[in-house]
Amino acid sequence: MARNRFLPVVDLPDDWSGALTVVVHDGKVVVLDEHPVEVAAGAPRLLLGTLDGAACFAVDLDGDGVPDLATSDLQDLLVPLRGMYGRLDDARWTLAGRAVQLVEWDRSHRHCGRCGTPTEPAPGERARRCPACGLLARGRNFPMPMYSCLAGFVEPGETLEEAVAREVLEEVGVEVTDIRYVSSQPWPFPHSLMIGFEATWESGDIVIDEREIVDAGWFTPDDLPIVPPAMSIARTLIDRWIERRLD
Ligand SMILES: [Zn+2]
Repeated sequence: MARNRFLPVVDLPDDWSGALTVVVHDGKVVVLDEHPVEVAAGAPRLLLGTLDGAACFAVDLDGDGVPDLATSDLQDLLVPLRGMYGRLDDARWTLAGRAVQLVEWDRSHRHCGRCGTPTEPAPGERARRCPACGLLARGRNFPMPMYSCLAGFVEPGETLEEAVAREVLEEVGVEVTDIRYVSSQPWPFPHSLMIGFEATWESGDIVIDEREIVDAGWFTPDDLPIVPPAMSIARTLIDRWIERRLD
């Protein structure tokens, strides 16, 4: 079973062993089993946390003091984050997404928002501090923008298939047909059962119900957003669909 083996520590524990480096450059990433010093000495680096005890760093290859990429093997290894899907295990996939966000946050907080003085990393915190006026720019929790399958509740007197058709229509304005049961998963939050279906688009463009949905879209296997982890039924449905599309 996959479980979250990642700890988002801001100070490296004494017993870390091994290192992972997520190199970030121009919206592209590569995850390497090496320490940042071996990958790109001199480039700005950030501690992401630990994964199974290994220290995880992000290296910003668009920062100052970066070695010339033109002569580097890294150039060939870097791929867009979305293109990493399926090539990395869940933990590394999530780590790569976290690295991209954290590098972006760090870049956009290099100067104090109040007085313009260059900021410095604040020890022991995911934050940068202004040495002149003391203003602290704190990193948020870096939630991942994640897309999942649509979900809803069965109403009394309705079949499961009717519930699927109704929920899809209500949430994204699309009519579906050919609704097929796939699998189920106990969902103890509380006393529930998740039942997974596939369906085929019949008519309509996506119009989201903004009370329930932030965004929805049509995706292809090579254009996937960040999706739920492997232990979820949503991911089972997504993986089945990808396998079929790639056959
Ligand atoms: Zn300041």
